[in-house]
Amino acid sequence: MARYRGSVCRLCRREGGKLFLKGERCYGSKCAIERRQYAPGQHGQRMQRKVSDYGVRLREKQKVRRIYGLMEVQFKNTFHKAAKKKGVTGEIFLQYLEQRLDNVVYRFGFASSRPEARQLVRHGHIVVNGRRVNIPSFRVRQDDQVQIKEKSPRRDVIKEKVAVAETRGLPPWLQLNKEELSGRIVGEPARDDIKMEIKEQYIVELYSK
Ligand code: SF4
Repeated sequence: MARYRGSVCRLCRREGGKLFLKGERCYGSKCAIERRQYAPGQHGQRMQRKVSDYGVRLREKQKVRRIYGLMEVQFKNTFHKAAKKKGVTGEIFLQYLEQRLDNVVYRFGFASSRPEARQLVRHGHIVVNGRRVNIPSFRVRQDDQVQIKEKSPRRDVIKEKVAVAETRGLPPWLQLNKEELSGRIVGEPARDDIKMEIKEQYIVELYSK
């Protein structure tokens, strides 16, 4: 699966807010958003275009897509899958994104950012219900057990990351055993559990055109 390989701080600057793609750096004074609060590129500082309704919705979609690290096709497919389910499409869509294995690894604190979590998964450090899973888009379900591989050489580093991530807090649908570096899915993510500023209705409107 393809992925974005350019500067991730540029993406934050384009969206005008922190997307938290670089781990601990995002919380410090070296964050590019703290230092250069304008759009990237030669004319970034001067650009003050009036944004159309479509543009506002497009930016919201891009922001969410970049937060979760999906390419357009995969993002759209996930949306259409959510749209087929009964219920509030926007909320189901966010639920699907939250239940991705790479996101869950990040939420447990095994990685300091979603891109790093994705790499942990891709490199085979993650075990779900006793079986190694290296697919970042794998969707976790209630009662699944997610853990760091017993023989992973990164266990010590990951323990330190879990300790640091404690300040981020754990959503109520996840339960963590930090000694064993394992976690259980004890429910489904509710809209209120996703604390990020996301207007999912804009994405629904954009894709419904
Ligand atoms: Fe975004 Fe993090 Fe870079 Fe700041 S440091 S601009 S939050 S990726």
